[in-house]
Amino acid sequence: MRAVTWQGKHAVAVKSVPAPAVTDSTDAILRITSTAICGSDLHLYVHAMPGMKAGDVLGHEAMGVVEEVGPDVTSLRPGDRVAVCFDICGCGGACFFCSRGLYSSCAASNPSRVQAEMYGQPTGGFFGYSHLTGGWQGGQAERLRVPVADSNCLKLPDDVPDNQAVLLTDILPTAWHANELGEVGAGDVVAIWGAGPVGILAAHCAQHRGARRVILIDPAQYRLDFAAARLPGLETLNPTKGKGAVAALYEMTAGEPGGAPDVVIDAVGMHYASSLAHKAQMALQLETDSPEAINECIRCVRKGGRVSIVGAYAGWTNAFMIGAFMEKQLTMRGGQTPVQKYWGALLEKVRSGALNPALVVTHTLPLEEAPAGYEMFNAKRPEDGCIKVVLKTPA
Ligand code: NAD
Ligand code: ZN
Repeated sequence: MRAVTWQGKHAVAVKSVPAPAVTDSTDAILRITSTAICGSDLHLYVHAMPGMKAGDVLGHEAMGVVEEVGPDVTSLRPGDRVAVCFDICGCGGACFFCSRGLYSSCAASNPSRVQAEMYGQPTGGFFGYSHLTGGWQGGQAERLRVPVADSNCLKLPDDVPDNQAVLLTDILPTAWHANELGEVGAGDVVAIWGAGPVGILAAHCAQHRGARRVILIDPAQYRLDFAAARLPGLETLNPTKGKGAVAALYEMTAGEPGGAPDVVIDAVGMHYASSLAHKAQMALQLETDSPEAINECIRCVRKGGRVSIVGAYAGWTNAFMIGAFMEKQLTMRGGQTPVQKYWGALLEKVRSGALNPALVVTHTLPLEEAPAGYEMFNAKRPEDGCIKVVLKTPA
């Protein structure tokens, strides 16, 4: 089968690789129809996370049609159309963590203990995301093996098109998770760092949940313009223009009852200079001694406010502003999204039209053109106008 493989920094290649087979009684084999490129894939593309091996199949946002199931799969049959969550529940829902809805922390799907040594407990397994998260083959391919398929597939009704359904695998649930962690509710003032697909959908969800003001922050102006054109009432802030994010936000929200945003969301994650806009932003950050979005978040939120981190971080980060966190009595929560917790309810919101995740899809390419898709999604050139890339396999 054809699959998108990781070959090194800034190098992905579509190759012919062996197709997966049922190897466990709870497996399903899917024929993938749509699969998206995620900002999380860019961390592998730009940084080369430890644990990646040349030839690994990428992709954790995939959907398709069930072709074959193992004898212990009870809820799926060949022909069913399903979305696959990026985080793998390996226990069937019974472990301490999954039974509390923390599916993305199910260590039964991740034999690697590298992160456990750093963090004190083993972390979860994810599709297509390095041998630190289980070494699972990814979904940017013609076929995917889904373990514990009853827990990791969502059956899709015919009335939800692929471009909506594929976003239930990760980024719509992640945008929702960002709002849940920040307890976004009616009347809140919410500031969101990062106008990528996750940040834009987090803004969409915040508006749906009744936030009074939603302010989206990004150095890529075309992304701010794209979001503002689609989400009426959205406010935008480009930190490379004028005073920078912190001073501008102080000014924009000084008249609020709490004098600042109630909730701040980091939808940026690990920092890297991948475009001119990023480089300008990095220079600005050095000047302001605020090296990461997360520090800007905790400086800008009101006292007693909520800090929600869905942007992905790994290992250590330096110069975290613990003082603001402590003195301002903040609540800070983060995490990989437990997709299984949210996707059923979100599917119904998509069907009713209350949420429209497909608004972020700007490019639909054949799987064979994945290298160009990665390059464009990473470069963030205004002339490409790229927000989210969906790859289609040949029928
Ligand atoms: P993306 O790369 O398209 O978007 C990131 C955006 O952040 C870009 O538009 C970039 O210009 C902007 N940015 C960079 N530095 C900034 C700064 N200092 N201030 C404001 N904006 C800045 O990626 P995406 O697909 O939207 O994903 C966003 C993040 O969410 C990534 O870190 C990704 O790994 C993470 N993610 C987490 C989960 C989860 O389960 N928690 C799931 C999906 C994605
Ligand atoms: Zn993703």
